[in-house]
Amino acid sequence: MLNKEIIINTNEEYDKFKKKLLLYRSWLYCFVSFKISGEVRQKELKDFETALNIKNDRKRTRFIYDRACKFIDEYNEEHCICCEYHDSICEDPKHQKMKNGCCWYCHLQTETGCPSRNLACKLFFCDHMWEKHHPLTAKDIDILLMFSPSRRAIARENTFVTEETFLRQLDIGSYGLMCIYSITKLFRFRNL
Ligand code: SF4
Ligand code: SF4
Repeated sequence: MLNKEIIINTNEEYDKFKKKLLLYRSWLYCFVSFKISGEVRQKELKDFETALNIKNDRKRTRFIYDRACKFIDEYNEEHCICCEYHDSICEDPKHQKMKNGCCWYCHLQTETGCPSRNLACKLFFCDHMWEKHHPLTAKDIDILLMFSPSRRAIARENTFVTEETFLRQLDIGSYGLMCIYSITKLFRFRNL
């Protein structure tokens, strides 16, 4: 295994590094071990180092998914971004006739809430929430740059599925297949 050391001390260097990720995550670097350090964005650098050193695609995908979910959860907790409910009715005036807000037609929801850890659902907020807060978008989550554009699109849009299905679809990595699956799943929705 060859070694590659990257030192990033400024935001400009960090931006340049992000542009090189396409190369670093390619097969050309499959026998290269990365050591990434620096004075800016140290948490992100550590995540990139770990992700780049996982050479198994399936394991790397799960690591990225996990880090992205944690990043969103931590950001939302820190900025107090969460939907409020009263008797299962959420605060968005447009959804007040429906139980459980924008989850109302998802076949996965249960009496005790959502059983899935769905990355795209974590990123979704209605206009009402956008007016109140500044939630993250997929573009704010740097670790998602480790995904191909097709996988990033899946990460952004694949709502209403279990985590296992989500990860399977990321493994296949085909946005077209995800769209076909999304159309078929429309027939499985039930009104609650
Ligand atoms: S995102 Fe909006 S519609 Fe969805 S549950 Fe939250 S407040 Fe309700
Ligand atoms: S998978 Fe998404 S839409 Fe379905 S219940 Fe969970 S958060 Fe709601």
